[in-house]
Amino acid sequence: MNVRVRFAPSPTGFLHIGGARTALFNWLYARHTGGTFILRIEDTDIARNTRAAVDVILDALRWLGLDWDEGPLSSDPAGPSQGAHGPYFQSQRRAIYQRHVERLLARGRAYEEDGVIKFRMTREPVVIDDLIVGQVRRELTDREALDPDFILVRSDGQPVFHLVNVVDDLEMGITHVIRGEDHLSNTAKHLELFRALDAPPPRYAHIPLILNADGTKMSKRDTGASLTTYMEEGYLPEALVNYLVLLGWSPKENRELFSRAELIERFDLSRVLRHNARFDMTKLQWMNGEYLRALPPERFYELAAAALQRAGVDTGRFPPDYVRTALETCRGKLRTLAELPAYGGFYFTGVTAYEAEAAVKHFVPENRPRLERLRAALAAAPAFDAATLEAALKATAAELGVKPAVLVHPLRLACTGRSSGPSLYHLMEVLGRDETLARLDAALARF
Ligand code: GLU
Repeated sequence: MNVRVRFAPSPTGFLHIGGARTALFNWLYARHTGGTFILRIEDTDIARNTRAAVDVILDALRWLGLDWDEGPLSSDPAGPSQGAHGPYFQSQRRAIYQRHVERLLARGRAYEEDGVIKFRMTREPVVIDDLIVGQVRRELTDREALDPDFILVRSDGQPVFHLVNVVDDLEMGITHVIRGEDHLSNTAKHLELFRALDAPPPRYAHIPLILNADGTKMSKRDTGASLTTYMEEGYLPEALVNYLVLLGWSPKENRELFSRAELIERFDLSRVLRHNARFDMTKLQWMNGEYLRALPPERFYELAAAALQRAGVDTGRFPPDYVRTALETCRGKLRTLAELPAYGGFYFTGVTAYEAEAAVKHFVPENRPRLERLRAALAAAPAFDAATLEAALKATAAELGVKPAVLVHPLRLACTGRSSGPSLYHLMEVLGRDETLARLDAALARF
């Protein structure tokens, strides 16, 4: 069978992380099976639809690298997909829905009542054979038992979700509907619509929800709910893809980092987990850090410089070699690029302030003579590389009869303004002798 799947978001101006995962599962399934991935914008609710709201979704999908395969050629010169296929917009497919409504009316499965068109729903229980959830038998609820029929077309002529969703899945030859479990409750209606239209339904695969770490339902306002946040906060799309796929799918292997090609090779609906997944920001940040460390150097420098730029730190005034070696010392501990300005900005901004608490602790009178001895040792060091600097600092500490840490903390504070950051010896090597001594002098002037 030629697999055809679709991601069918409503443009609300927001892409929820659960929606992004639904898109990813569909995309991976299409790529795994050599099938087709369709993007369909469910924008029949005209009042809420704007180009900007659609762009939020398209931008996020492009950022994640989830490309769609077909759809009408874009004719709008200002359109987001000019020169490319798709997506489909339901707002442009009214005539198709109308045709199917007429078929339903002709068969007696739809009827007009008070200006609306309603679907004559079955009164029998409906069995859903879901690829993930298993067999679900849907009985009518008490309220439905009184009147299970539902609206297909509103009095203003607007077709409703159930109708357009099913008609498009039929028209587009969708073979698998992979979507959030919140839609399981709609599926009996959808199966009945297919039956009424005399068409075999697609297979349904409802994926469990993503919950907050505390097990509550993730709403729009919860931390990490919006895809845009990750795009703005310096996450890598490949890390987010890797994290998202493990939220509800398991490769049954004892590792967690998978390249896109490995995911495509392994992804299958049979390994989608049946229990709800919990969103774990700490794990995502860890994973993002792993991906940052694995980036090819040039790409890392590019992204890092852009992250600094966004925070108002200009690296362009510095020699490229200085920028690279400085950034390289930051890579080891970063979890996201948004942390970079605070972590390594001192290379480019100088020390603009000292962390107050650390200054009170380390810039104390008894440290003044110690730091002066250290200054002399650094000034006289035969070379200014990390190993030499480490040896010089340790020798000075030994002469002074103190632990190296007694010198390390105030020296780090003097060089960076902060109590933590990249390896001290390496950052001094990058700053160079003149700059290191100048920063130390500026700190000594404060005692
Ligand atoms: N427009 C629906 C949504 O955003 C699509 C549901 C489906 O995938 O069938 O939830």
